Amino acid sequence: MRPLSEKVAGIAPSATIEISNRAKKMQREGIDVISLSIGEPDFDTPKHITDACIDALKRGETHYAPSDGIPELLSAISEKITKENKFPCAPDQVIVTCGAKDAIYEGMEAVLNPGDEILLLTPAWVSYEPCVQMAGGKIVKHAVNQKTFQLDDSILEKVTKKTKMIVVNSPSNPSGAVFDKKSMELVADLCVDHDLYAMSDEIYEKLIYGKEHISLASLGDMAQRTITINGFSKAYAMTGWRLGYAVAQKPIIKAMSKVQQHSVSQATTFAMWGAVAALKGDQHCVEEMRTEFDKRRTYIIKELGHMGYICAPANGAFYAFVKVAGDDMKIATDWLEKAHVAATPGSSFDAPGWIRLSYAASLDRLKEAMERIRRVGGN
Ligand code: PMP
Repeated sequence: MRPLSEKVAGIAPSATIEISNRAKKMQREGIDVISLSIGEPDFDTPKHITDACIDALKRGETHYAPSDGIPELLSAISEKITKENKFPCAPDQVIVTCGAKDAIYEGMEAVLNPGDEILLLTPAWVSYEPCVQMAGGKIVKHAVNQKTFQLDDSILEKVTKKTKMIVVNSPSNPSGAVFDKKSMELVADLCVDHDLYAMSDEIYEKLIYGKEHISLASLGDMAQRTITINGFSKAYAMTGWRLGYAVAQKPIIKAMSKVQQHSVSQATTFAMWGAVAALKGDQHCVEEMRTEFDKRRTYIIKELGHMGYICAPANGAFYAFVKVAGDDMKIATDWLEKAHVAATPGSSFDAPGWIRLSYAASLDRLKEAMERIRRVGGN
């Protein structure tokens, strides 16, 4: 047989999957593994959202819809962006995608030519690099300051003539850190000075604790250059719905639309009606989930501190990013095999020496997990 695609062969399988596969195998064997490696809310989608989707199904919203999304959802998103994220957005500057991940991939395809460089701030979520590789670009990594998890001028050293776009993710997966205004302004200045695009992944914007979310596109003329990524998975506990979106200038949206039309066609029609209800409906559900995450966050950071662990500033998302003494892969394996707690080694996010613990689990399970880690140690 002739060899398969070199491009795909060059993409590393997700290191996170190895631990999670092992955890699943142990669970199948009947071992009570506490999974703190997951990146999704443990809450169900709020009822008024599922009801809106069921109503849509019953009315026969089961046909093809416009590829970029149903007009009602495009309008709801454009209103939300203009009001909450504080930059102008018309409905034709929005594309609804099959999850934020799909928006990231389409955005990369829309912008990149072979050899273009993308600046990626590390630690970084696992899918940015493969999306860039699939779109033919080249990743250049820049580590944020590992104490403050903010940016400084050292990023300038990574900019070359080939740099085309920078990826920003605040609040961050995996670190939970939130970029302050200074870091965001540094990114904006960099983009203007070097004529760069930016991709700002703001999927965790609603899960923020004691800090303010700043949309990159709201700064200066950044709306011209920024592809803002967002979605419904985290804020509304809708991971399985596969609904995300991108906001950008029309030429970028048109280019993304071509990728969408010839690949997935559109996001699921009746699911989009659920998303309309999510944006237009009562937002208390978002605050209730955020408050619950905040309780768990306070608990886990305090407990880890008592055990002597240092964590990244946990101001957003639902992750505690823990500094460990030694090989993170080995410590995560020990925690899994000896403590039966599944966590994600920082190496998966280009941050060796750290481990990511998701606190999207009940307080009782978190308490049990902390007790088990305390027994096994590893610090
Ligand atoms: N961006 C980040 C930073 C994420 O953590 C995730 C999900 N883990 C996504 C994007 C993708 O989300 P979605 O479910 O909408 O594809």
